Amino acid sequence: MVIIMKPEASAQNIKGIVEVIHNAGLTAKVTEGVQQQIVAVIGDKSRVATVAFDAMPGVDHTVAISKSYKLASRESHPRDSVINVDGIEIGGGTFTVMAGPCAVESREQLLTAAEIAKKGGAQFLRGGAYKPRTSPYSFQGLEEEGLKYLAEAKEKTGLRIVTEVTEVEAVETVAHYADLLQIGARNMQNFRLLKEVGRTNKPVMLKRGLAATIDEWLNAAEYILSEGNENVILCERGIRSYETYTRNTLDLSAVAAVKHLSHLPIIVDPSHGTGKWRLVKPMALAAVAAGADGLIMEMHPNPAKALSDGAQSLTPEHYYDLMTDVLKLKDFMRDEHMESIDLED
Ligand code: PEP
Ligand code: MN
Repeated sequence: MVIIMKPEASAQNIKGIVEVIHNAGLTAKVTEGVQQQIVAVIGDKSRVATVAFDAMPGVDHTVAISKSYKLASRESHPRDSVINVDGIEIGGGTFTVMAGPCAVESREQLLTAAEIAKKGGAQFLRGGAYKPRTSPYSFQGLEEEGLKYLAEAKEKTGLRIVTEVTEVEAVETVAHYADLLQIGARNMQNFRLLKEVGRTNKPVMLKRGLAATIDEWLNAAEYILSEGNENVILCERGIRSYETYTRNTLDLSAVAAVKHLSHLPIIVDPSHGTGKWRLVKPMALAAVAAGADGLIMEMHPNPAKALSDGAQSLTPEHYYDLMTDVLKLKDFMRDEHMESIDLED
């Protein structure tokens, strides 16, 4: 349930509401609405079933949230969330690009990729140090050594670092080096891991599970939010379908759906979403048009030699070409280009 306060409600009114919620053993979360404050009631709402919130001073009305996720819902937080990742704001109209190799393979490979990512206009460098590979015989990642190369790349280029954490035991180490913790598709419903990153103060990028519904995905985000970490960014990376030509089916309708259902920013990964480098640019442009808050893409100095996901990795040239058009489209979509529509006619 959320309690919508009147625009003129006082701080004392809010305090009164919050006290009633606390006294029932529940959690109250106060957020700024468009015109008024909103108090979300978190927990078993049957405990306040007999409280007439509507009759309390300062209350405009109450809204029951039927969804199982509450903190992730737009009802509890009508404005877009803006997540600050080491000074870079994601969401609320900004556009953020993350680029880099699938895996950190060596110091030289990563530093070269970082220079290219920076030159093309990305704000984040991506690169997995802990790799969740389908086969146990595939390259598993450099682990902490890889994290050190990522930190060095940040020092040299100023790019922020996004990298995956695959297990509870590694959260502290990864959080020490990274700016943004990536929860991969295979771990979207690893609830212990979600709770653990929820207890850190690091922003988290939560990828959609391979076969997860939007509802399951937003519930996974709720696990992180309910532990106190409000800094969650969603990432659509494609889901399994009967199609085999593409690695996954990139569900761009999820961008529009999530924007309606949730206040959390959502970015798109057209690399894992398609599995083919040729499809990455068209899908990146489509993601921009669909309203995504950013992109995460795989780019490798030499994709033919990549230890993982070479087939979907952009060459530096393809990456520069993609960025040129993505930034042009983003620019075109800004409000000032819409003046030509004359509503008087
Ligand atoms: C990755 O980003 O390299 C990755 C493994 O992604 P996903 O979890 O979406 O498969
Ligand atoms: Mn990959």
